[in-house]
Amino acid sequence: MDHRLLEIVACPVCNGKLYFNKEKQELVCKADRLAYPVRDGIPVLLENEARALSADETHP
Ligand SMILES: [Zn+2]
Repeated sequence: MDHRLLEIVACPVCNGKLYFNKEKQELVCKADRLAYPVRDGIPVLLENEARALSADETHP
């Protein structure tokens, strides 16, 4: 995935910064506890496509 892409993507819900989980290929918003999928290198920043994180996953 293009690194520059990560610098411009923001959470569509809170406009906060997202961080990329390489292992799961997801963009994570800790504030909303949502993980957005990355499909074929393209972040899908849609709230209804996001996965809710479990309590475990919100801890670093
Ligand atoms: Zn957010």
